[in-house]
Amino acid sequence: MTERMDSTSSPLVDSTLRQSSGQASSPLIGLIGGSGLGDAVQEQLVNFSETAVDTPYGSPSGKILTGTFSGARIAFINRHGDGHRFSPSTVPYAANIFALKKLGVTTVISSCAVGSLKKDIRPKDIAIAGQVIDKTFKRQNTFFDNIAAVHSELANPYCGRLRDAIVNAAGSIKSKVHSNATYVCMEGPQFSTRAESLMHQKWGGELIGMTAMPEAKLAREAQMCFALIALVSDYDCWREPNEKKDAQTLLGEIIGNLNEATANAIELIKAVLQSGENLCDDNCPCRKSLELAVWTKPQHIDPKYKEIFEVLRK
Ligand SMILES: [Zn+2]
Repeated sequence: MTERMDSTSSPLVDSTLRQSSGQASSPLIGLIGGSGLGDAVQEQLVNFSETAVDTPYGSPSGKILTGTFSGARIAFINRHGDGHRFSPSTVPYAANIFALKKLGVTTVISSCAVGSLKKDIRPKDIAIAGQVIDKTFKRQNTFFDNIAAVHSELANPYCGRLRDAIVNAAGSIKSKVHSNATYVCMEGPQFSTRAESLMHQKWGGELIGMTAMPEAKLAREAQMCFALIALVSDYDCWREPNEKKDAQTLLGEIIGNLNEATANAIELIKAVLQSGENLCDDNCPCRKSLELAVWTKPQHIDPKYKEIFEVLRK
């Protein structure tokens, strides 16, 4: 096993990010781990340090781990926190995205577990999200409430350039990767009724999950290049099981599927990081998303919010 170094910084520190020697000039790529992927990435991170970042939106899900993963410098956050403390409705999405941006991250690869709404998207497959239907209703979905009127363009909620890089890298892994899936994001925490599941299919939904939004909206407001890798754990309830199985057996199958999809997703992320593609490009349109989005005249924005704009615009 590669040598690991765990050093914990003091709280509220954002300027003492310790970088691995010799890598100071390489870009810091953000990884957000959802169900499944979080623990696996943490286990493979080397030369890492933990940074507690304070934000105007409260504390992130946990300390951000910065270190080396597959030869790249990454900043990793576990979306649900240690011990899976945060439900999809209570994840501090705004704090997580703001904290990554504050550390200098401009490109984020996020991951999450999903159910499949489509026969051809099978358990254990991987799907790269292309579109989202956002049904969430009780989450902070903007950085700008009571600060300014900001209308970001969201026709394509994910970075096309980053998605292409992931899809190109997918050829080198053994798992089936779907390159452009439509994700229905529900509030939860309960899963869908069967009638809802059938309705989501009629809407054109292909994946169902609870965490894609508002993460992608906030990443766009933070001028980040952002992509989502979804791990398919099972078919949603539109599909009635062929054979009767008890709940314990079904849960065991779902966990097994998720573990396999997680291993495949790790291979995919490693392939992307090693692809040699420029994953952090300041010329990408994502990196200019606020240019025309702020409708409030500057003189009407309270100067006390200056730092927020500085972080989101950098
Ligand atoms: Zn981009």
